[in-house]
Amino acid sequence: MEKPAPYAQSKPLVVDEVTLQRPGPGEGLVKVVGAGLCHSDLSTIDGSRPRPMPMVLGHEAAGIVQEVGSHVQDLRPGDHVVFSFVPMCGRCIYCATARPALCENGGRANGAGTLLDGGRPFQDRQGRILHHHLGVSAFSQYTVAAQESLIKIDPTVPLENAALFGCAVLTGVGAVVNTAKVEPGMAVAVFGLGGVGLSVVMGAQLARAYPIVAVDTVDAKLELARKLGATHLVNARERDPVQSIKDLTNGGAHYTFEAVGNEQVLHQAYQATRRGGTTVTIGLPHPSRMLSVPAVGIVADERTIKGSYMGSAVPRRDIPRFLELYQAGLLPVDLLLTRTIALDEINEGFDALAHGEAVRQVVRFSH
Ligand SMILES: [Zn+2]
Ligand SMILES: [Zn+2]
Repeated sequence: MEKPAPYAQSKPLVVDEVTLQRPGPGEGLVKVVGAGLCHSDLSTIDGSRPRPMPMVLGHEAAGIVQEVGSHVQDLRPGDHVVFSFVPMCGRCIYCATARPALCENGGRANGAGTLLDGGRPFQDRQGRILHHHLGVSAFSQYTVAAQESLIKIDPTVPLENAALFGCAVLTGVGAVVNTAKVEPGMAVAVFGLGGVGLSVVMGAQLARAYPIVAVDTVDAKLELARKLGATHLVNARERDPVQSIKDLTNGGAHYTFEAVGNEQVLHQAYQATRRGGTTVTIGLPHPSRMLSVPAVGIVADERTIKGSYMGSAVPRRDIPRFLELYQAGLLPVDLLLTRTIALDEINEGFDALAHGEAVRQVVRFSH
């Protein structure tokens, strides 16, 4: 893959007919209704997050179970589901200690581009076996997933909106409530206002943080952050975000969140964190990038740098929990959804995402 932008011309994603195996033991066949375009798909397309190719991409989605294999206990045809992009094996030490985002068997399968049991159910017209994307592979009308990747949800939630709970909302709100555990009145700053960063803003509002400072270089995203609960906006092209946050928060935020995936921005987030504070890193920088900070400050200022993967979530607990907050009007997730697109507009969609012209676009499948 690794074709240059603009993707509308280079077409790194090819829309074609593939064949899909029936679900094996412990698996379900799902009709995908909505699948979101996420920055980590973009990182797979541009090669900054290398994955085995060729692959059926897409990891943020919701759909309806059509058929289940043997040994599937809790799902049946007709159930509405959101996909978890880390399958939780339930047996490893991380699953056993309520940290399934770090699941060893799930991580191994995701790295290899297979389902949890090693299967790869998609094949192209030439008979080539295609890799699976994070156990989901949602840019397809139908997909097969392990039951450990499928979270049953309330069927009254529109599935285009529910899709966003699989990645953006789980990761962003989870970073606030699970990783940082922000408390009322704590000062929060968020760097990078994509779907995840804006979900951090929503989570901070839910946690009654104050002030909530949102940082980006695109005014439209800053305005959206205001609607989602940001109390102060900083355009990093116009003002130094570190100094601005220090001024707005009496010397630095208690919690800063980096949702760009850039080590220089992470460095700024660290500098904008006050003594005793916590810098939460959510974005995924290229594996070759390093972060350099004064080592003594970690001790003398009692600073914490905390990684947050998939919002440190327990998807079976948190996806239904966040959906309930959404239904109660406490998480205005609909505002993240810029537009729905058709599958054959997907390359243009990734151009719009790369240029910051869209927060979340969801492929809506016609069946
Ligand atoms: Zn994602
Ligand atoms: Zn596990």
